[in-house]
Amino acid sequence: AKDQGKNTFQFYSPEMNAKAMENLSLENDLRGALARNELVVFYQPKVDIASGITVGAEALIRWEHPKLGQISPLKFIPIAEEIGLINDIGQWVLAQACTQAKLWQQQTPGFVISVNVSPQQFRDEDLLDRVQATIARSGIDPYKVELELTEGCLMDSVESNIQTLEALKDLGVRLSVDDFGTGYSSLAYLKRFPVDVLKIDRSFVRDLASDPEDAAIVCTIISLAHSLKLEVVAEGVEDTEQLAFLAKQNCDQFQGYLCSRPVPPENFHSLLSAPANW
Ligand code: C2E
Ligand code: CA
Ligand code: CA
Ligand code: CA
Repeated sequence: AKDQGKNTFQFYSPEMNAKAMENLSLENDLRGALARNELVVFYQPKVDIASGITVGAEALIRWEHPKLGQISPLKFIPIAEEIGLINDIGQWVLAQACTQAKLWQQQTPGFVISVNVSPQQFRDEDLLDRVQATIARSGIDPYKVELELTEGCLMDSVESNIQTLEALKDLGVRLSVDDFGTGYSSLAYLKRFPVDVLKIDRSFVRDLASDPEDAAIVCTIISLAHSLKLEVVAEGVEDTEQLAFLAKQNCDQFQGYLCSRPVPPENFHSLLSAPANW
């Protein structure tokens, strides 16, 4: 070990140690978080651009840590993946989201609930059974449940993924390609994926108004989606300029702080009713 020199020193540096300790303690905390009711699901509206009406929501998990406060999913989802907790957490989010959406559908019958599915969850052999059971238990119409899979997840071992996607479609759920444009998309495969929606990644939306290249990419994704008869959703819309651009390009839906941040279910109700005046 001695002659590893710098690397060895790096490994034992106090900062590295502190980071490792922090992750280890988060790991331990996360194992009990679900049972202690520290995980909660927030909802962000999905808005139909033409009408301004909320037509659905994306379920986004939050961890209310008793000592550290709210921890971002960007921080704890990778840990959950690493320690094999993501399946249980993901299925729990799906169950919460379906039950909640079923209630909102009393007021808005066409309401679609979108839920993120992590790569590990997508490859789990029990995925289909668990999704089917959860949907059945909540009583929601499967056509009003949408599963979001990242482009990166889908492009990894494509042939078996197509089979999984087709089996999910047979359950009746809608499928969406999340973070579209960030991965190494192959148009030949996209044609073969039985998906319903492309979600334009936030990184292309952010500078839409000032960056002609981002604008060109967004236009291309929208027309690609439409020529493949897919719906297209823009995420991360924060201002009216971005929205005006998307409306002009006939983008179908948007999500973003312009309408609302993700909110707890009790605060979502008011977002359901009236179309806003952007
Ligand atoms: P994502 O699926 O791409 O979700 C969109 C993220 O963009 C959310 O971050 C959302 O709060 C944020 N966002 C929405 N509108 C805006 C906007 O106008 N401006 C900005 N700056 N951000 C906006 P969040 O909730 O922190 O989630 C981050 C990521 O964590 C998600 O990215 C997703 O990959 C993952 N995640 C969240 N919940 C779940 C879950 O239940 N299961 C799995 N597997 N992953 C989840
Ligand atoms: Ca998503
Ligand atoms: Ca996304
Ligand atoms: Ca993203």
